[in-house]
Parts: sequence; structure tokens; C-alpha cells
Amino acid sequence: MGVPSGEIVARPMVARACGCLQEFQHYAVDKYRAQRLAKFQKTRCTVCVAKLVEEQRQAAAAIPKKGEAFQLLPTGTQVSMTRKPDGSWSGTLAGGGTSVEAVGDGPQGLSVTLARLWVTARGSRPAPRPAPKPG
Ligand SMILES: [Zn+2]
Repeated sequence: MGVPSGEIVARPMVARACGCLQEFQHYAVDKYRAQRLAKFQKTRCTVCVAKLVEEQRQAAAAIPKKGEAFQLLPTGTQVSMTRKPDGSWSGTLAGGGTSVEAVGDGPQGLSVTLARLWVTARGSRPAPRPAPKPG
């Protein structure tokens, strides 16, 4: 893409993919203004990109590793897995009042997926809160 040159002749406020309004600069010489504008509208602003990257990093960090996920499952957790006609597996995991479902290529990977899903569904707080006594 050619680099725009010349004076900035207009600075309209344009909504970006994230919904933020940002100044889009119209250069005097810009063969690719339409393309630049389309790209501008299709992408997030730098602030939102940074936010998104940080959120994804935190989300990735919050997902427990294989061994950790199994450690976090409460006593009495039950897993059931079913092999389907197409060779894939579907499974459910229920423990501590939370149940999750997933599908996978094999029982091993699926059990890990289920354990991680369960932990994520519970909100990554491993310490079980003592149940409040009724009355
Ligand atoms: Zn934004």
C-alpha cells in the first residue's frame, strides 16, 4: 500500500470495530484512502487492542494446566464419556453442583478439556467456600 502524503485535508471521526470513535486522517494525496478507511473501520483502536491482548493473556493464564485442573476437582466428581459413531467422544463432568459438557477426539484429551471447563465454569477459585448453615 502506498504511503499517503501531503497535507491532512480532513479529520472525520470514524467508528472503529471496537465502537470507539477515532480521527481518520484524509491526506491530500492518498490513492488508497478507501482501503485505508475500510481497514480502519474493521480494526480496533490501539487502546482496545491492548485491552484485548491483556484480557486474552489473563484468560490464558486463568486456565489451569492439566494436572492442576484435576487437582481442583472435588471429591465425588463424576465423568462419563461416550464414543460416538463418527469416532469422536462426548463427555460430561459433574462435581460440586457444576456440570460441564464437551466433545473431543479421544477420552484422554476430553477428560482434560472437561476438567478445565469445570474449573473455568467455577471461576478459577480453587478454595471451596464452606456452605452456609441453614437457619
Ligand atoms: Zn476502542
